[in-house]
Amino acid sequence: MNFVLDTHTHTLASGHAKNTIREMAATAAQRGIRLLGITEHGPKSPGVCKEYYFNSLKLASRNVCGVELLLGAELNILDTSGQVDLPDRTLRELDLNIASLHTPCILPGTRQENTQAYIHAMQNPYVDIIGHPDDGRYPVDYEAVVQAAKDYGVLLELNESSLRPESSRKDAGKNDKEMLKLCIRYQVPIAIGSDAHCREDVGNNSYALALLRELQFPEQLVLNGSVERFKEHLRTRRCRTK
Ligand SMILES: [Zn+2]
Ligand SMILES: [Zn+2]
Repeated sequence: MNFVLDTHTHTLASGHAKNTIREMAATAAQRGIRLLGITEHGPKSPGVCKEYYFNSLKLASRNVCGVELLLGAELNILDTSGQVDLPDRTLRELDLNIASLHTPCILPGTRQENTQAYIHAMQNPYVDIIGHPDDGRYPVDYEAVVQAAKDYGVLLELNESSLRPESSRKDAGKNDKEMLKLCIRYQVPIAIGSDAHCREDVGNNSYALALLRELQFPEQLVLNGSVERFKEHLRTRRCRTK
């Protein structure tokens, strides 16, 4: 598999990440990444940029160091109704939106509650990807999550950072395996995101790749291999919900 895009990274604007947009793009260019998603944490995360920052992204360049940028947000899902921490008027102007469960913003619920939180977030027409749905601190019904992803045309993320031994997320490898097997059964595409918080991690996918190889995961279900296929998926997702 030859990957040319990374859908999930953070810059200084996320408060706890280390590099600028330009530095992240420069490393992406060196590593053969042609499309880079920069998805800053939503405003309910501690110490991050506010709504005003996201609104101003429309003025930012989408081509830096020869790398095409998708500028957007990693939203916090706030409750079981799937509410997120930026309004539709902001989300519709962003290039790429991931929705995730994060411990500072929502306490883990029951399996049913966490599952509902994801599924309701997928019903938001501006949510393109569910971020790290592998975190065992938020147990979910993967059968229901994968089927909902198929129904709504939302991508499920295989998060490289979750699979690292030092990750604070729990049982990601085991949970990803369960999710990926269901993605094969129901033919649901995924996107690998490095979740890089520093330039050294841009485009990293070694743990994700090892897992995909182990499961003999079909290459056509991984959208990181083609900029055009990924962008077409995004366009279709946004169109079907407008
Ligand atoms: Zn996250
Ligand atoms: Zn992230």
